[in-house]
Amino acid sequence: MIERFSPRGSIAAMHTDTPTPPDLNWQAQALCAQTGADFFFPEPGSSVREAKLICGMCEMRSACLEYALANDERFGVWGGLSERERLHLRRTDPR
Ligand code: SF4
Repeated sequence: MIERFSPRGSIAAMHTDTPTPPDLNWQAQALCAQTGADFFFPEPGSSVREAKLICGMCEMRSACLEYALANDERFGVWGGLSERERLHLRRTDPR
């Protein structure tokens, strides 16, 4: 199984290794951490329907979306929103 979130200290997680790391405890309860990353990072042009269905059942959705927007996550589905939807949200609701 592919882990959606890389362990802290790994090369893939380097972008989250900051002197004052954000609270990432929500990731431990993320449904996508149990299902794998494939649904959430589909090939370009592929459906994100399955990912959105899983996000719709995830109690960490708000924290996930907040994290994605704060960290400018450009790829994949986060907090139930696709890349395009997050870009639209950023343009219409800049924080
Ligand atoms: S909202 Fe979706 S992408 Fe975010 S943690 Fe939950 S399942 Fe994962």
